[in-house]
Amino acid sequence: MVAPIEIPCPICRDARPKARLFPLALSREHVYGLVRCVACGTRYFRPLPDAAALAAFYHSGYFATFHVDKLAGKGRAFARRHLAGRPAGRFLDVGCAIGAFLEGVRQTSGWQVQGVELGASGVKYAREKYGLDVHHGSLASAAYPTAHFQYVHVNNVLEHETDPVGFLAECRRILEPGGTLFLSLPNGDNDWRPLARYYREEGRPPLSKDGHLFFFPPSAIRRLLQESGFAIRHQRTYGFQRGLANAGLRPRKRHWKRVYTPRPTPPVPDTPPDIRAVSGRPHSEAYYDFRLWKIYTGLPGLHSLGLDFLFLLTAV
Ligand SMILES: [Zn+2]
Repeated sequence: MVAPIEIPCPICRDARPKARLFPLALSREHVYGLVRCVACGTRYFRPLPDAAALAAFYHSGYFATFHVDKLAGKGRAFARRHLAGRPAGRFLDVGCAIGAFLEGVRQTSGWQVQGVELGASGVKYAREKYGLDVHHGSLASAAYPTAHFQYVHVNNVLEHETDPVGFLAECRRILEPGGTLFLSLPNGDNDWRPLARYYREEGRPPLSKDGHLFFFPPSAIRRLLQESGFAIRHQRTYGFQRGLANAGLRPRKRHWKRVYTPRPTPPVPDTPPDIRAVSGRPHSEAYYDFRLWKIYTGLPGLHSLGLDFLFLLTAV
């Protein structure tokens, strides 16, 4: 009999024992447990991976599939949609990866842009290729002044953080009152399902393939955002094709389990490897506007069968 996890929930502080679900992995050598808070329903890693395990995970070709032209086009479309017509201010992209999205925002908006990124290879690329002002490390370690930014962009980052509550508090602190937080993240109630299915069918720990450490249900993320000092302006759900597949309502590809199968821990090199970022034939600007528009044509509200949530939040 395995002892229950008694520590307070890192999201809602509920101190009751947590339900242990199944083991899950960041690599073949780094195996943890997935637990669920009985109060708020958040599922999360216990123990949390340490810095060395996370560094090894993100070194394993994490940026290799990032597509420069698509990200830059997305950044330009984003700036046209969200920043055009507003007085230029300071824009921060947290988890800016190789900086291509941020460069697209800079080209189009006239805003002063900055980035934060943990992955050394991504930071190197963003600085050398675009000359961007990118802090290498966590958001907290950047120690930006209070109320410094008018717009903070956080795209698929919160679920990777080891301290999501502290991370959102820091986003709120560096935003000017009335400033905007753009937050996209997976629907935790949907995102964890393929992990559970893999474990059920294979009897072995699945790989948390994108490095997600937290799986937030809609109610828990809404409450957390409000308690962190944000008013919810818009909330939408998209990613229904993948969401339906996760829920077992749409067939999966034949070899879907491959990406959930843990691989050996790669060695972490002393110097960050250069990125051979993917590039290709550029599309028209209308194409990028259309791609972004498709995200916003997801359903209003938070829906269990969609994989992705999008929030536009005001710092209050
Ligand atoms: Zn909780």
